[in-house]
Amino acid sequence: MSTEHGIYSDGNWIESESGETFEVRNPADTDEVVGTYQSATSADAETAIEAAVAAQDEWASTPGPARGAILKETADILESRKEELTELLTAEEGKTHAEAGGEVQRAIDIFGYYAEKARDLGGTAKAASAENKQLYTKPEPLGTVSLITPWNYPIAIPAWKLAPALATGNTVVFKPASVAPGVSRALFEALDEAGLPNGVANYVTGSGSEIGSVFADHEDIDAVSFTGSTAVGTSVAQQAADDLKRVQCEMGGKNPTVVMPSGDLEMAVDSVATGAFGVTGQACTACSRAIVHEDVYDDFLDAIVDHAETLEVGDGSSGVDMGPHVTESELEETLEYVDVGIDDGATLETGGERLTGDDYDDGYFVEPTVFSDVTPEMRIAQEEVFGPVLAVISVSDFEEAVEVANGVDYGLSASIITQDLSEANHFVDDVEAGVAKVNEKTTGLELHVPFGGYKQSSTNTYREQGDAGLDFFTSTKTVYLN
Ligand code: NAD
Repeated sequence: MSTEHGIYSDGNWIESESGETFEVRNPADTDEVVGTYQSATSADAETAIEAAVAAQDEWASTPGPARGAILKETADILESRKEELTELLTAEEGKTHAEAGGEVQRAIDIFGYYAEKARDLGGTAKAASAENKQLYTKPEPLGTVSLITPWNYPIAIPAWKLAPALATGNTVVFKPASVAPGVSRALFEALDEAGLPNGVANYVTGSGSEIGSVFADHEDIDAVSFTGSTAVGTSVAQQAADDLKRVQCEMGGKNPTVVMPSGDLEMAVDSVATGAFGVTGQACTACSRAIVHEDVYDDFLDAIVDHAETLEVGDGSSGVDMGPHVTESELEETLEYVDVGIDDGATLETGGERLTGDDYDDGYFVEPTVFSDVTPEMRIAQEEVFGPVLAVISVSDFEEAVEVANGVDYGLSASIITQDLSEANHFVDDVEAGVAKVNEKTTGLELHVPFGGYKQSSTNTYREQGDAGLDFFTSTKTVYLN
């Protein structure tokens, strides 16, 4: 399956001037090399930026409907490759086939959505203060933008940045995470096949600190859209701020689901389990804290432990419920957090072990893990684990539940399971999170509404997705026409 893949720069697939490459292996079977990628250098990154800058004027003056037609054609090409891309995503990142298929479909839908948006980029007409005058606003592209993305949604996140950036007339340099750079390559192959002019979108693989830094810092870059960890996002935001670039960083989470006595217990267990163990807990919106009213604590705990123990873990291509961690270091970090939880006095109810043996091909498998007796200040209740580890916390009333939900540095997604409308309303008002959900899991997003976080989950300036996704990539010009 392995092939060597190039950088896409100025419309050509080329090798890095470094002459060096790196391998991506299947996390479910570490003997399998899924692809070999270019270790680009700063010079390669600068060449891509030059190409994007040179292409910008012509792309900005291409009519919106023509830009939209290329995005639509891209969506159609991706659709025709859906099964191949789903298998590639599972092989390089480890999601189950069902999860990977959903993600690839999301990328296709995002291109379709922004293809339509390219016809209608906003702008408003206002009444002027005199006769025979027009007063209106028009959105304009920012110029050349950098997109830097994580490995955990390796095609959906690139798509939700790339499609609105292109729809609004910007040119793009893009750097995928090195752990799973393959499936986003297909976006550039499809754009190329759909007739995107040379230089408009460029794909550069390589080290985050080297390529990412050039993309965050370069004087010809007008804006940076980053998704990844809070540590890296903070440094990207600082670099970009040096010359007042527009910057958007979407980062980590420590997402709670509050379970109240009036809530449907089955719904609570399904929502928490899907949020905690879906995509192996490797989602920024993963539910890592169940904050449960003491009246239903024991019932909830028994049911979530039973549920975790029924989940089948294995190679995501083989019909299991949960795939592997993406890398050995992510697996080790999860296992370290299991030790931290035990040392801090939480009770390990189930899981917590690496899965090894003939069925596991040296892959990075771990059991779905549930801790009870967790108190809000413990590290497993405060820090992003990024693995299938759930901390169950008991509270005595609604006010305490909200206080615990808000008592972390992050604020991305939060949900409550309740049949009490007053509690639902108060939760929506009081929870410090960019996404508030009632009787839903913390994971799962609609593509046409804004997405982003509060506190250390986000720079909290612009949102992504929907119309908000267009706002980040445009400036507003106000026109007085006499
Ligand atoms: P990461 O921060 O390690 O890497 C993200 C990207 O930044 C990668 O492409 C990486 O190569 C690049 N990078 C690394 N060092 C850099 C530097 N010095 N300058 C510029 N770029 C650099 O994150 P990850 O491990 O790939 O992803 C997991 C993290 O992403 C988790 O914290 C998760 O919560 C977060 N995430 C957030 C969202 C969201 O929308 N809020 C969505 C998905 C993932």
